[in-house]
Amino acid sequence: MAGQTPNRIRGTQDMLGEAQRAFQHVIDTFDRVRGLYGFQRVEIPIFEATAVFARSIGETTDVVSKEMYTFPDRGGDSLTLRPEFTAGICRAYLTEGWQQFAPIKLAASGPVFRYERPQKGRYRQFHQIDAEIIGAAEPQADVELLVLADQLLRELGISDEVTLQLNTLGDAPTRDAWRTALVAHFEKYRGELSEDSLDRLTRNPLRILDSKDPRDRPIADSAPGIDQFLTQEAAAFFAQVTSGLDAAGVKWTRNETLVRGLDYYRHTAFEFVTDRLGAQGTVLAGGRYDGLIGSLGGPETPGVGWAAGIERLAMLAGAPQGEGPQVALIPMGAAAEAAAQGIVATLRRAGVSADMAYRGNMKKRMQKANAAGARFAVILGDDELAKGVAAVKDLGSGAQSEVSLDTLVEAVRAA
Ligand code: ATP
Ligand code: MG
Repeated sequence: MAGQTPNRIRGTQDMLGEAQRAFQHVIDTFDRVRGLYGFQRVEIPIFEATAVFARSIGETTDVVSKEMYTFPDRGGDSLTLRPEFTAGICRAYLTEGWQQFAPIKLAASGPVFRYERPQKGRYRQFHQIDAEIIGAAEPQADVELLVLADQLLRELGISDEVTLQLNTLGDAPTRDAWRTALVAHFEKYRGELSEDSLDRLTRNPLRILDSKDPRDRPIADSAPGIDQFLTQEAAAFFAQVTSGLDAAGVKWTRNETLVRGLDYYRHTAFEFVTDRLGAQGTVLAGGRYDGLIGSLGGPETPGVGWAAGIERLAMLAGAPQGEGPQVALIPMGAAAEAAAQGIVATLRRAGVSADMAYRGNMKKRMQKANAAGARFAVILGDDELAKGVAAVKDLGSGAQSEVSLDTLVEAVRAA
């Protein structure tokens, strides 16, 4: 007995056609570009022990306190669907002994999960591409990651619409001093801050700067920037990052109050933002996370990385033109129909994309070939088959010629 079809889960997506091609184009472009920079791909699990995320991202962050998909498995262990890649990659770095390869440049992509209010550009299952360098404390690593991100956006054709906002969060003494000044600033506006930010004021005042609540924005925007609190070391590190970017021709703007939603960042923090996606304007974001691996129980290890939302990049970049098959094979008659299986297989094995409808008369099949954007229709009647030839029609020009079946692969490939 068939019941009602269950709905797609809120905040998830089904993709076909143009939307899927735009999505795939981001992944393909990322895979090509990360290869140029020597980042090797890693595959890691979609779920981890909850502690992996709670300890690294920070218990008081929105991601951990409100957005994680956490559940007990049948054995009673607390598991969490990954809300991001960095923590899982760092866990693997420690448990799989990847320390021996340090410094190591890694890339990943796939689904991530956050329980958020769904809207355009914001989903509960979304997808990220991710790049990380673990085991390098040098500012050159920060630069290389940013140049990689910049080249990705260029190759997607969207670098004009996206700007790199850059900040430093300094080292521990810098942050302590900045934090004190921020608390003093926010205390003056206690009565005007949102409830969430009042809570942040005691738990993690830096994060008020990142608030999306309109009540907090003017107070956050008028907060003191970090510069006057930077130690000499932190300022020198940041200067090396910016001069590296300048040398590589990567444009950036300074945002002295930019902070990231996760607790683990030190020194470099950045976002690539656009005004074309409304409130969902951050397309790629990251920074240096020198404290993360230590908080997972590993030896103090520097790291730096970024992640980008594939959907947001795909919305900006759009889909490349869909490609039809090189050949649509149209058999007419019983003998031709049987022989066509061999011909279509030969074409495909030779690397020529070829398709053949399961049914339909000549006219229907021709319409289908045109609609699919095929380059050639190869028409095979029983008479032609007996002579060992086929009619090859160029669907662009309309020109038609007779081609020997022995030379069919060359004939449709060459053109
Ligand atoms: P936002 O401020 O938009 O919530 P975030 O700071 O939480 O973003 P990160 O944790 O830095 O985002 O994740 C990196 C990227 O992943 C973001 O820049 C964005 O492009 C994308 N992203 C984050 N959350 C979502 C979501 N719910 N749906 C789609 N893409 C997302
Ligand atoms: Mg978020």
